[in-house]
Amino acid sequence: MLDEYAIDQPIVYRTILNAILKDTVTHAYLLELNGYSKGFDFAMAFAKFLLCPNHYSNREKCGECHQCETIDDGNFLELKIIHPDGQWIKKEQLEELQQEFNRKALVGNQKIYIIDGADKLNTSSANSILKFIEEPVPGITAILLVDNAYQVMNTIVSRCQILSLKKEAFTQKETLSLKEKLAYYSFHEQGEIQNFLNNEDTDEKITLMVDYINYFEKNGYQTIIYKNKPFLETFNDKNLLFLAFQWFILYYKDVLNFSLNKKIEFFKEEEPNITIITSKNTVLSLSKKLEILLDLSEKIKFNVNATMLMDKLVIDFMEVEK
Ligand SMILES: [Zn+2]
Repeated sequence: MLDEYAIDQPIVYRTILNAILKDTVTHAYLLELNGYSKGFDFAMAFAKFLLCPNHYSNREKCGECHQCETIDDGNFLELKIIHPDGQWIKKEQLEELQQEFNRKALVGNQKIYIIDGADKLNTSSANSILKFIEEPVPGITAILLVDNAYQVMNTIVSRCQILSLKKEAFTQKETLSLKEKLAYYSFHEQGEIQNFLNNEDTDEKITLMVDYINYFEKNGYQTIIYKNKPFLETFNDKNLLFLAFQWFILYYKDVLNFSLNKKIEFFKEEEPNITIITSKNTVLSLSKKLEILLDLSEKIKFNVNATMLMDKLVIDFMEVEK
C-alpha cells in the first residue's frame, strides 16, 4: 500500500495523494526510479491507490473493495503490466493491450497499464505508446517505469508527468563492486544478472568500455583510428553495443555528478581519471556529451551501421570540445 512509501519517498507520495484530493490525476506518468530498489512495488501501490474506489492508501482501511482484493491476487483485468519480452518491449504487446483496453471496463471506470522498463521500447513500440498518450482516453492512466527519464524518447517524456523517486540510502549497495552494480543496472531477470556476473568476458568488456572513454578524453580523434575497431570486435552486436552505450551514459553521469558534488556512484575506481575529465570539461559540455550518447543509443535500436555510429560518436564529442 502507498503508505509504506511515505518515509522513503515523501515527495512523490504527497504528490500522488494531492492528485487524488484535487482530482488532478493525469493520463500518463513517468516514474523515474533513480536506482530505488522497490520501484516496481511502488508503481503497483500507486496503481492500486488509483484503482481502489475509496483511494485508500493503507491496508487497514480498505481490503474491502473488489479492486484491492483482486489486484492482490493478480487477477484484476483493468490493470495491465507489460515487461520487456526479451530485450525489447514489442509492438505486438502494446497492440494486444490496446485491444483489451478498447472494451469497457468490467469493474469501475478506471484502467491502468504499467510499462516496466520504458527504456526497452523499440522505435515502433515507442510510437504506439506515443499515440496512446497523445490521444488520452478518459479513465486510462499509463505508468511508465524507467531508471532515468533520459532513457526515454523526449516526445514521450514531454507528455508525461514525471515522478522522480529517490534512491534509498542503504549502505549495502555501496559495497557492491562495479561489475555487480552494472549487472543490477543493466538486467532485470535474475538469470541474466547471474549470467553476466559469471561470464568470463564481463570484466574485459567493462575494462574496454572504461578505457575507450579515458582514451578519447586524452587523444580525441585518434580514437577513431586506434580504438573503434577493437571496441566493435568485442561489442559486436546490437544488444552489446546498446549495453556499452548505457555504460557510457553512466560513466558520464558519474563525471557530471563528480563535477557538481564530488560524488561517484558507479565508477569509483576511476576517480583519478574522472578528476582529469572533469578538469577538461565544463558542466555544459558534459551535458552535451550525455545528450549525444542518448541520441546515439536511440539509433542503435534501428539497424544502424556500428562503425559509422562509433565514428560519429567521436566526431560529435570533438565538436563539443571546440
Ligand atoms: Zn480498496
